[in-house]
Amino acid sequence: MAHPYISVELRRLVINRADSLCEYCLILETDRPSGCQIEHIISLKHGGPTTEDNLAYACVFCNLQKGTDLGSINWQTGELVRFFNPRRDLWADHFRLDEAIIQPLTIIGEVTARILDFNDRDRLSINFSRRSWFP
Ligand SMILES: [Zn+2]
Repeated sequence: MAHPYISVELRRLVINRADSLCEYCLILETDRPSGCQIEHIISLKHGGPTTEDNLAYACVFCNLQKGTDLGSINWQTGELVRFFNPRRDLWADHFRLDEAIIQPLTIIGEVTARILDFNDRDRLSINFSRRSWFP
């Protein structure tokens, strides 16, 4: 699918709003050698618009793991569960930081942490700069 045009102003708004952090795993952009990208929360494939309320700032790991997915399965109940949405959810309602480890607090948090692979060993080694006061 063609990559949509995102204006300089919209790009700046998304980056400033995120305070240059990945809005999913809270890694600081400058701590991720591959940096962060602007992503569609609801992917283009599923009709998500290129508007400020559907855009988030995400590190390359989170963005690649999320792909065009919108959620996953809660294997205990068989239910389809959506991912954490940085525009409508508060991070601290769904996750908490246990030093560098992100612990899910809700089923939305569990599905998001699992599919985006927040606590992958290779990622943890560079996660220490996470701002524990966030949000
Ligand atoms: Zn991330």
